[in-house]
Amino acid sequence: MTDTLTDPIYKTDSLIAEDIDAYLDVHQHKTMLRFITCGSVDDGKSTLIGRLLYDSKMIFEDQLAALEADSKRVGTQGQEIDFALLVDGLAAEREQGITIDVAYRFFATEKRKFIVADTPGHEQYTRNMVTGASTADLAVILIDARKGILTQTRRHSYLAHLIGIRNIVLAVNKMDLVGYDQAIFDKIVADYTEFAASIGITAFTPMPISGFKGDNITGPSENTPWYTGPALIEHLETVEVNSAVDADKPFRMPVQWVNRPNLDFRGFSGLIATGTVKPGDAIRVLPSGKTSTVSRIVTMDGDLDQAVAGQSVTLCFTDEIDCSRGDVIALADNPPQAADQFEATIVWMADEEMLPGRSYWLKIGTQMVTATVQQPKYQVNVNTMEHLAAKTLDLNAIGVANLSTDKQIVFEAYADNRTLGGFILIDKISNATVAAGMLHFSLRRAQNVHWQATDVSRDFHAALKNQKPAVLWFTGLSGAGKSTIANLVEKKLARMNRHTFLLDGDNVRHGLNKDLGFTDADRVENIRRVGEVAKLMTDAGLIVITAFISPFRSERDMVRQMMQPGEFIEVHIDTPLADAEARDVKGLYKKARSGQLKNFTGIDSPYEAPLDPEIRVDTVAMTAEEAADAIVARLIP
Ligand code: ADP
Repeated sequence: MTDTLTDPIYKTDSLIAEDIDAYLDVHQHKTMLRFITCGSVDDGKSTLIGRLLYDSKMIFEDQLAALEADSKRVGTQGQEIDFALLVDGLAAEREQGITIDVAYRFFATEKRKFIVADTPGHEQYTRNMVTGASTADLAVILIDARKGILTQTRRHSYLAHLIGIRNIVLAVNKMDLVGYDQAIFDKIVADYTEFAASIGITAFTPMPISGFKGDNITGPSENTPWYTGPALIEHLETVEVNSAVDADKPFRMPVQWVNRPNLDFRGFSGLIATGTVKPGDAIRVLPSGKTSTVSRIVTMDGDLDQAVAGQSVTLCFTDEIDCSRGDVIALADNPPQAADQFEATIVWMADEEMLPGRSYWLKIGTQMVTATVQQPKYQVNVNTMEHLAAKTLDLNAIGVANLSTDKQIVFEAYADNRTLGGFILIDKISNATVAAGMLHFSLRRAQNVHWQATDVSRDFHAALKNQKPAVLWFTGLSGAGKSTIANLVEKKLARMNRHTFLLDGDNVRHGLNKDLGFTDADRVENIRRVGEVAKLMTDAGLIVITAFISPFRSERDMVRQMMQPGEFIEVHIDTPLADAEARDVKGLYKKARSGQLKNFTGIDSPYEAPLDPEIRVDTVAMTAEEAADAIVARLIP
């Protein structure tokens, strides 16, 4: 996704001429408000954004005119043409697809700087809206006064609330087209109040506006004497920004890197997510729980007496305690929790559906771990807020699911802390971001189920059998020869007094996995379960041989990660599709080709060959017997 900062329109004030240093100082210390506009072009979104940009620029021109003796003021007519051109430009950009992704625009007034994320409004752009909204302080929900609350109003409001935006402006636009009728405005506000309450929005600011005519944009409009609330820009200038709210929360800073330029200096750098920190504060490093005291707060501009949420700093401690990238520094007596199982809301952003059981990278703050997501508890219809049953999540779908991570992560509920509760999922092979998510809470079972240490250990089991456990993981197309060769390998090992067990695809599907079919999601779960069983068998000291197509690299790598280092031996039974199909021992290729059998590997379901298997067997060049000998020789040299 490309994020573009476009059209910087700075508004200046008279200071610029009088005292440039003072001006720059004021400008630098202005707070920044990030907001999103939700609505479609039909609601007047381009016109409204154009109005905001234009009005701030207009003040600039007024002041320029006042400053310069020879006035450069543009006539009223000229302004209208400029405004229309600006709006046309914004609308044209969208039509040409330039702003299919989120377009960020920057402008400023005397009091504040603003970044507005102009997010596309259609349902197929849910992921774009979520991206644009993830850092926003405020959302402007645009409504066409003639139409009232529409499906998209509900969708945008739900998403804005989901993403944790605290300030919602209900901008009832095009009031000029309904004769500035108060009754129409009041009815829309009443309808919205009822809907908002149903999804948990407790407060919002309604405004009657006209982006086109400029009513209630910069100041009160004569056309709406019955409206006593703030104009849009006034409200944007004064509403409390997230960093101010975050500063009042307990101190938390995810560590981005350890700063150690020489032996005398050791500091921990990061962006303060919440709270305030001062030298002398007692802190705790998580997940280790080690405590120390802040000795210095170092920045590029020298040491600070205090730092707050939103600032990037380097902290030094009075003790040499372990702390590295991914750790979280927090108040000693009020630290966040660590856990490895959670309930979360997930917004799916990839074209390929979510695969429950597949392992993805999960990035949260500066922590990166491996995570697997379970089948969703439900999916949310973003237009009606209904909960629907779901086996997976498709592009733009939003659902609630449990997930587990391979290591404990330091977290807080997203509602309390966007940095420690918001995460993304990344595909391990393509490195693409496939989802954004929000943690709700950790599952209590994560705390209550502990690994039971047993007295007869895995080493003891292996020693009793006088062998080293291993998993010979056969992968290849149907008919490649996996079962045939695996069977020969097991016989040869048995003759050598080795304790083995052969897990065969077809056999496992008759029992343990008889509830699973052949969709991608079921194939992932099939392999996950087989991996877990194989792991238990290696704990029992066995040499496990598995014969499954196991078409995806991700799952084979996942099983590899489950095993002890060196115990997983990937065996690629490499038979060209044409040869496997010509053998067609079970008649399955014929069925697949005639359309009687769906999702058949190699035909209408993919096979991802191993890139770097421990053993590769070319069954065209070798007989099954020769292949089995080679594999046994590799296992027991
Ligand atoms: P898979 O388990 O991979 O689906 P099978 O082992 O069930 O495959 O079937 C493979 C078929 O190919 C068997 O009929 C086997 O006799 C035949 N075959 C021919 N050449 C070879 C070879 N070099 N290695 C393994 N099998 C072979």
